[in-house]
Amino acid sequence: MGAAMAPRFVVIHYTAGTTAAGAIGWMCDPASKVSAHLVIDRTNGAVTQLVPFDRIAWHAGRSIWQGTDDLNRCAIGIELDNAGKLERRDGGWRSTAGVAIPDADVVVATHAAETEPAGWHRFTPVQLAALDAVVLALRAAYPIEAILGHDEIAPGRKLDPGPAFPIAALRARAAAGGPPAPPSLRDRLRALFGR
Ligand SMILES: [Zn+2]
Repeated sequence: MGAAMAPRFVVIHYTAGTTAAGAIGWMCDPASKVSAHLVIDRTNGAVTQLVPFDRIAWHAGRSIWQGTDDLNRCAIGIELDNAGKLERRDGGWRSTAGVAIPDADVVVATHAAETEPAGWHRFTPVQLAALDAVVLALRAAYPIEAILGHDEIAPGRKLDPGPAFPIAALRARAAAGGPPAPPSLRDRLRALFGR
C-alpha cells in the first residue's frame, strides 16, 4: 500500500480502455505500476475503490499545479472507464486497441493542447452522475482545493480526460454543494512542520 496522503486535489482521468473490469485488472497488477483511488464504470456508474483515500496512488506521474509538483502526493485519482482519443479507420471510429466505437458515442472536438479536431469517446450520463456524487462526498470530507484534469497537471504529456469531459460543469456543481471541508489540525501541523 502507498504512503500516507492528505488529499488536496481530485484528478480526473480516462482509462483509454473499453471496460471498467479491464482497467481494474490492469491497475491491480503490480507490474502495471499504475493505480487510482476509484474507477467509475461507463455502463452502470458502478464505483470501484482500489486505494484508500488517505494513501498515495500512482495516477498522475510527472505533474505540477500552481507550484505543487508530484500530484500523487496530494491528489485523489479518479479513472473514468472511457476509450479516450479515437482513431478514424475504415469509415468508423476505433479505440487505440482497435475496438469499434459507435458514432453516437463519439464527440468530435479539438483538445485545448491540439490544433486539429479528433474523435473522443463520450462519457455516459450514469457515469457522470456517479462522479458528481463522489466529488460532493470527497469535498465534504477533505479540503479539496481544485478538481483538475490530468491534461492540466501534465500538459504536453497527457490528453485525458480531454474535450469530451464536461469539467467546467462538474466544478460548478461541486461548488454549488458548498465549501470543501477545512484542513484537519493534523494536516495543518503537517503543512507547518513538514511530513
Ligand atoms: Zn490520466
